[in-house]
Amino acid sequence: MNAEEAIDRAYERLGERIHEKFRCKDIARDIVTLAGMAEIYCADHHDDAQRVPFRSEATEAGVYPARKIPRLCPDCARHVRYGEVRRALCTRDPRPSCKTCSNHCYAPDEAAWQRTCMAYAGPRAMFRGHAIDAIRHLIQTRRS
Ligand SMILES: [Zn+2]
Repeated sequence: MNAEEAIDRAYERLGERIHEKFRCKDIARDIVTLAGMAEIYCADHHDDAQRVPFRSEATEAGVYPARKIPRLCPDCARHVRYGEVRRALCTRDPRPSCKTCSNHCYAPDEAAWQRTCMAYAGPRAMFRGHAIDAIRHLIQTRRS
């Protein structure tokens, strides 16, 4: 089962719970920050013609303020959709650093993409008006 199928399965089995989590402010903030970082990474690495306004279960659910819906290529869109579900299903509250968490919930190649994206976009995001605390939190929790 690839990551995309895993996410489809998660929505089939846990859709209601995921949507409930999407309404949580902290979770929504993490998701919007994650997608904002993915947008920075995508804009500098991937074909502009492929990038369209992101759509996922979370965008449909209103997790993103309209002006924060990122433009992403299909590949980055898949990674962000994956991250949305993983964040929603994190059972730790408050969420610990992912690095020190005993439950490594990301599939290995998704975790690798996440690290690459954060390492590139983190320092750049600080200069583009993103909420610095939110970014700091994400970076400190994703890097390993
Ligand atoms: Zn991309």
